[in-house]
Amino acid sequence: MVAADPVSAKPRGVIAARAARWPLLGERRALVGYVCCIVALYLVTLSGALLATRLEGRDLATFAALLACGAVCIEARRRLGVPAGVSRDLLSAWWLPAALLLPPAYALLLPLPLQFLLHLRVRETVVYRRVFSAAAIGLAAGAASMAFHWLAPAGDGLALGVNATVPLAIGCGVVFTVLNTALIAIAAHTAEPRTPWRQLLWDRESATLDLVELCLGVLVTIAFALSPWLLLVTLPPIVLLQRSLLHAQLQAAARTDGKTGLLNAAAWQREAETEIVRARRTGQTLALIILDIDHFKQVNDKHGHLVGDRVLAGVAATLRSQVREYDVVGRFGGEEFVVLLPNTEVVEARNVAERLRMHVAHMAVPVNDAAITVTVSAGVAVMNLHGEDLLDLLAAADLALYRAKELGRDRVCLPAPGHTPPEHRRPRS
Ligand code: GH3
Ligand code: MG
Ligand code: MG
Repeated sequence: MVAADPVSAKPRGVIAARAARWPLLGERRALVGYVCCIVALYLVTLSGALLATRLEGRDLATFAALLACGAVCIEARRRLGVPAGVSRDLLSAWWLPAALLLPPAYALLLPLPLQFLLHLRVRETVVYRRVFSAAAIGLAAGAASMAFHWLAPAGDGLALGVNATVPLAIGCGVVFTVLNTALIAIAAHTAEPRTPWRQLLWDRESATLDLVELCLGVLVTIAFALSPWLLLVTLPPIVLLQRSLLHAQLQAAARTDGKTGLLNAAAWQREAETEIVRARRTGQTLALIILDIDHFKQVNDKHGHLVGDRVLAGVAATLRSQVREYDVVGRFGGEEFVVLLPNTEVVEARNVAERLRMHVAHMAVPVNDAAITVTVSAGVAVMNLHGEDLLDLLAAADLALYRAKELGRDRVCLPAPGHTPPEHRRPRS
């Protein structure tokens, strides 16, 4: 269902065409404002810093060397092929030395060519995101650089490694990481206000990577301060580390649905099978819910596929936020989602499905000045009651889902008493 909204007053073709050419315009106003402010602040700071900096051959050579190292890392990434969803790299290993070894203007400038190179050589993505990333990294590195040069004007202590300069360099690295994370988290929260701050600001995996990047950045800086030639010694291990990081991310991406961040159908089925084996072994029961967005085709028809994708992401986030950590949530295909609830019997499963239905109905996806709402229909099946294995349970929940659709949608149903499971289902593509 699509709530009555003023967006439908605008011809869909115009909005979709505009959003396709300028994806930022399809975003929430607050996000457009925030991105523009950060980019403007970046450009003003960069221009001011460039004007205030006396260009020196030694600095330019250092900048060129760090830029070249960053470019080598980017090329190494490109050769491995980087699909959507793989986002982390180890480029901070080069931002931080630029911030600590050079005047702030260089730290502000370095992300610009490297983000451009990433866009050109690794993966084309929405341009405003690349520009925003360059601005956020540049501002964070610029601030860290200003702090470092203010507190340690000589800076040569880095080569000695024994006085307070090294801890200061580490402190400035922390400033860079915190600022960069905060600038990006604010953008993510503005884009999707229901995402909890904790989730945006703290993720153990991400924090570990930040720490690794910080250590690499400080080590490269000290090595460079000892002798610029040592940059050649630091480059190969960083490229190798980046390869293993990429490998780990590719493994995670292969399990994940790119649009929603949930498990994809194949990964969900594997995890669900494991849960069923565990439930059989421990004598516990489990429940399965299939949810299908009602009249989703109308959302696409009225607002375009890009908006439809945002609704899918919104529903996915709502489902994930309403279940326990160990419940298995996946995108089964198209506008269908599956939730497996270990150790859950029929009354509780129905309550959970009802809660999911209600939360999705209260969710609103902002589009320009309006908000799109959708409803879902859900089918519930419980192990030992409606089926013994995963395929039986999927078939039973699917049957219940069709009952919910037939009875008018926006509701939760269980299989009718005495149902005979229809033919076994596979994920829809
Ligand atoms: P019902 O209430 O009976 O489920 O109606 P419905 O319109 O939701 O179902 P139907 O099967 O007719 O249409 C499903 C729509 O989902 C059509 C398809 O274009 C859309 N869809 C599937 N995958 C995606 C996707 O990844 N993104 C977007 N935007 N739309 C998708
Ligand atoms: Mg469907
Ligand atoms: Mg549907």
